[in-house]
Amino acid sequence: MDKCSFCGRKRSEVNLLISGIEGFICDECSARAYEIIAEEELTKKEKSKFDINNVKLKKPVEIKEFLDQYVIGQEHAKKVLSVAVYNHYKRLSVQNIKDDDDIEIDKSNIVMVGETGTGKTLLAKTIAKMLHVPFTIVDATVLTEAGYVGEDIESLLTRLLQAADYDVEKAEQGIVFIDEIDKIARKSDNPSITRDVSGEGVQQGLLKLLEGAIVNVPPKGGRKHPEQNLTPVNTKNILFIAGGAFDGIEKKIARRLNTQVVGFDKSEKNKIDQENFLQYVAPQDLKSFGLIPEIIGRMPVLTHLNPLDRKALRAILTEPKNSIIKQYIKLFQIDGIELHISENVFEYIVDKAIEYKIGARGLRSICEVIMTDAMFELPSKRVKKFSVDIKYAKNKLEKADIKKLKVA
Ligand code: ADP
Repeated sequence: MDKCSFCGRKRSEVNLLISGIEGFICDECSARAYEIIAEEELTKKEKSKFDINNVKLKKPVEIKEFLDQYVIGQEHAKKVLSVAVYNHYKRLSVQNIKDDDDIEIDKSNIVMVGETGTGKTLLAKTIAKMLHVPFTIVDATVLTEAGYVGEDIESLLTRLLQAADYDVEKAEQGIVFIDEIDKIARKSDNPSITRDVSGEGVQQGLLKLLEGAIVNVPPKGGRKHPEQNLTPVNTKNILFIAGGAFDGIEKKIARRLNTQVVGFDKSEKNKIDQENFLQYVAPQDLKSFGLIPEIIGRMPVLTHLNPLDRKALRAILTEPKNSIIKQYIKLFQIDGIELHISENVFEYIVDKAIEYKIGARGLRSICEVIMTDAMFELPSKRVKKFSVDIKYAKNKLEKADIKKLKVA
């Protein structure tokens, strides 16, 4: 007799009996099964949700220790970032607690000023890695006002949404690194009468995002998909970290410092480190560079990165947790080859990076030139060990096209 394999009721006792290969299921049991699946899905989703209260918040000292593993030097930037990130996430966690003191902690968006290739992006990336939050890098130069060629300000959040696998709640607690923020500076310090498309307009647009607003984000980005439904994203808790080289800002800092100390004790003036003016960067210098005061106000944490000296470059080669050299050693190890590089080869690589003025980024391109032939040939040979000495390194680099290195 036909009956439901789950509840045992006969065909006459149910509305519908669906037949399968081995038996039957009635309408009520299949509805119940559907409910169980739906519940299960929901709990799974709940569990995977990012909950700031469940994240063990690292203390600033621990955050800095984490950064130290990946970023060489830049002590000031690391300290300032550690505190800013700690406060940011502390702020998120207290938002869920009802307090009656009405004190709201402001967001601590950050500006980092420093020559290109000194570790700004690396710092932001490392922070995101530590926090396990969605992270995206956007280039300020591609942002233009709506209607002009380029991307809209909202597209900045599209990438964050993508990085969060379209989980809006997760994206709303993410980090956006805005690179080359200096490129949207207005060209003169005076507010222009005519609208300055390239700079000020973008800054105005950015302002809304920085201060916290509900922004309608095109999930697929761009204007190529006009049919897409916009996703509202609240930027209130998104941490914005901006970086820029601010070429020429040293002169503005120097001018400010030198005029400030005129008339004061001469020794004050002597205390200024004339070699590295960036370390004295202050909000007013960003203003004279062309950022509007509102933007500066919304990015209250300001720090600088030092130019990398010889010692720093040497350390970058081998010391970070995933340093360039450690990566080569691992690559060879996978093929069962033990790689050894002489100490003086490291010195030579650093010398060349300085000589060609290609900084930390150039270290990798120099290493590539030295290692490419070996990486090409050795996997097919039965070698267990490979040593790179100064003669080998010089030979490879001298044969290479230096121009290729310079563009790196
Ligand atoms: P920026 O954003 O300041 O232009 P990046 O952070 O992109 O520079 O640095 C480029 C590369 O140079 C990094 O991927 C990293 O390999 C190396 N690098 C630069 N500065 C440092 C540093 N302070 N410590 C370790 N590596 C660094």
